Amino acid sequence: MSPSKPIIAANWKMNKTPQEGYDFASQLVSRALEIRGAEFILAPSATALSKVYAALDGANIGLAGQNMHFAEAGAYTGENSAAMLKACGCDSVIVGHSERRHVFGETGADINKKIKAALLAGLNVIHCIGELLADREGGNTTQVLREQLASDLAGFDEFPADRIIIAYEPVWAIGTGVVASVEQAGEAHGEVRNILGEQFPKLDASTVSILYGGSVKSSNAAELIKTEGIDGFLIGGAALDLDEYCKIAEIAQMEARG
Ligand code: PEP
Repeated sequence: MSPSKPIIAANWKMNKTPQEGYDFASQLVSRALEIRGAEFILAPSATALSKVYAALDGANIGLAGQNMHFAEAGAYTGENSAAMLKACGCDSVIVGHSERRHVFGETGADINKKIKAALLAGLNVIHCIGELLADREGGNTTQVLREQLASDLAGFDEFPADRIIIAYEPVWAIGTGVVASVEQAGEAHGEVRNILGEQFPKLDASTVSILYGGSVKSSNAAELIKTEGIDGFLIGGAALDLDEYCKIAEIAQMEARG
């Protein structure tokens, strides 16, 4: 279901110790009481999950893993399973982040197995897709999004809109300070909905939550959240700072209320 409240998800990447995560999350719990019109999700590193979960202390704030392995257990040094994330308090997991695809070489087949394993284990999924700069400059954005959705969601008869949030993250906008224009983001979100509608004929694509990610800051959050089809944000750098993260959430809440 496309959310009534904007979703403001923080991807801390490889930042923050467990104690730093704990301090951030404890303060967020009280700050969030004043920002009830936004839905928060924190994605700390695996080492900080349990401590952040303790700090959240039952508050209505989501906890997501940044990645997982698709196997249930076994000889996968350095990896974590879906069940392990759940045991640390996670209710969701980010899958297919561009850094996993382009730095760690994850393929659509890997991502497909991870999404299936996460759902099976009871985790919801924040499924990231997005084109490289060369794709956009070559006019291939829609084609890339189509290919990613086809391979990542291969074998799905239906799209579980209540379990999967899509994050459209143009790779050229991630961590670069270059944000997609309102036109570019709005068009891509519309394309993602069209593609999902074609791929899953029974789906009402307007019920899918689609976040925008890529250099979101308090200075650009208002115009982005007002854009048709943007249901919230997945934020990297700007979500490391509690004041800036809360400011983005406040802006999103205010604009969503109109
Ligand atoms: C991200 O890591 O998903 C991201 C969008 O990063 P940033 O906000 O720093 O561009």
